[in-house]
Amino acid sequence: MKGLVVIDYTNDFVATNGALTTGLPGQAIEAALVATTKEFIEKQDFVVMAVDIHDQKGQYHPENRLFPPHNLAGTSGRELFGSLKELYEADEEAVYWLDKRHYSAFSGTDLDIRLRERGISELHLVGVCTDICVLHTAVDAYNLGYRLVIHQDGVASFDAVGHDWALKHFENTLGAEIVGK
Ligand code: ZN
Repeated sequence: MKGLVVIDYTNDFVATNGALTTGLPGQAIEAALVATTKEFIEKQDFVVMAVDIHDQKGQYHPENRLFPPHNLAGTSGRELFGSLKELYEADEEAVYWLDKRHYSAFSGTDLDIRLRERGISELHLVGVCTDICVLHTAVDAYNLGYRLVIHQDGVASFDAVGHDWALKHFENTLGAEIVGK
């Protein structure tokens, strides 16, 4: 069994009016990201929706000093974007929903345990932003000994330079396989 982590593909991070949007680059990966997610679901691999969650107050959260409020609990901004939302709602049981508070999907979550109990050693990543949440998740996965596969056509950032840098880092420093070029 393989694992796929779909990172932060929500309205706030992707929609044109999202609070912290990647905009067009984020919207451009929708078809490929959804196709990859569908393929993993159909093969009954382990699919994780890793989704940032914040609360209105959250005065202790380090992101408060860096970013405007985003992915607030219970808001439409935190709902999955576009056809990924449709895919998720068609069968919510087919994926594992993972609330995360930090950039990395491993930080403060049970992701590592969920992967290990399934014997998964190969982790695929898609989502946004390539150089923030995807990057931090990849670094943690690397340190935990996972083999990484990054889907280039399924990751995006608002920062083109950061996106390109992160792709090189995945390949040259984390030993990731880059597919979907
Ligand atoms: Zn956040």
